[in-house]
Amino acid sequence: MRVLILGGSSEASALARALAGDGRFAPTLSLAGRTRAPVLPPVPARIGGFGGVAGLVAWLRAQGAGAVVNATHPFAARMSANAAAACAATGTPLLRVLRPEWCPQPGDDWRVVPDMAAAARRLGDAPRRVLLTVGRQDLAPFAAAPQHDYVIRSVDAPPKDALPPRAVVISARGPFAEAGERALLRAHAIDILVTKNAGGDATEAKLAAARALGLPVVMVARPPAVPGGTVPDVAAALAWLEDVRAGRA
Ligand code: NAP
Repeated sequence: MRVLILGGSSEASALARALAGDGRFAPTLSLAGRTRAPVLPPVPARIGGFGGVAGLVAWLRAQGAGAVVNATHPFAARMSANAAAACAATGTPLLRVLRPEWCPQPGDDWRVVPDMAAAARRLGDAPRRVLLTVGRQDLAPFAAAPQHDYVIRSVDAPPKDALPPRAVVISARGPFAEAGERALLRAHAIDILVTKNAGGDATEAKLAAARALGLPVVMVARPPAVPGGTVPDVAAALAWLEDVRAGRA
C-alpha cells in the first residue's frame, strides 16, 4: 500500500524508519524543504510544496496513495488543512499524528498567548533578556519589540534581515537536556523564555530549566485542530496503517 507521510517532525521520520523494509507498505516521506540539511530516513522522499489542495489531489491520484499520515509539526496548520481537503476529495484515508501538548506543572509561570504577535507584546515595555525558541520562520513579530535583547535558538540560522535589532543566534538541533538548558539560561542571563507549545520530549527540558530558575515562559498556544482522526504517537499510526491495509479502517 502506498503511504504518503507528511513530515517535518520527529514522528514522521520515526514512522518512515518503521515502514522502511516492510514489504506491505511503500512509504514516501514529504518535506516542505524548510530545513537546509534534513536527516532523511531510508525511504523515498519528495521535497517542496505540492501546490495547494489541487496539487496534493493530483499527487495522490498519480501515485495511487492508499493512505496519508499527516505527521507535520503541530503548528503546520495550512498543510494539515490541505491534507484534510485533498483526502476528502480523493477518498484517501487520513490520520493525524499529534503529540500531546505540554501542560503547566506546579512551579511553572506560563503566560499563554494565541499567536506570535501576542507573544512579542506579552514581553512588555521594559527591556528584558529573552530566549526565543520559536523557529526561524516566526521571528518577524519581534521586530516590533526592539527594546529587548534576544537569544534566538534555531536549527538553521535565520537570515540576518529576519532578526530583531539586538539578537544573538545559536544554531542547535535537539534533543536538549535540562542541565544544558539551565546553563544556557544562566550564561545569557535570560529572564524570560518564549516558545510554541510544540509538545514532545526532545525540547521539553527548557521548560524544566525555566521552572528550576523561576523564570516566566510566554507559551504560544497551538492553532485549532483540523477535524479528523488523530493519534498521539507512531505506534498508534502503525496500528492504523495495518487496519487500513486490512480493510478494517
Ligand atoms: P504550513 O504553514 O502548514 O504549510 C505551508 C505550506 O508548506 C503548505 O501549504 C505546503 O505547500 C508546504 N508544506 C508544509 N508541509 C509540507 C510537507 N510535509 N510536504 C510538502 N509540503 C509541505 O507549514 P509550516 O508551518 O510552514 O511548516 C513547514 C514544514 O516545517 C512542515 O513540514 C512542518 O512539519 C515543519 N515544521 C514546522 C514548524 C512550525 O513551527 N510551524 C516547526 C518544525 C517543523 P503547498 O500548499 O504548496 O503544498
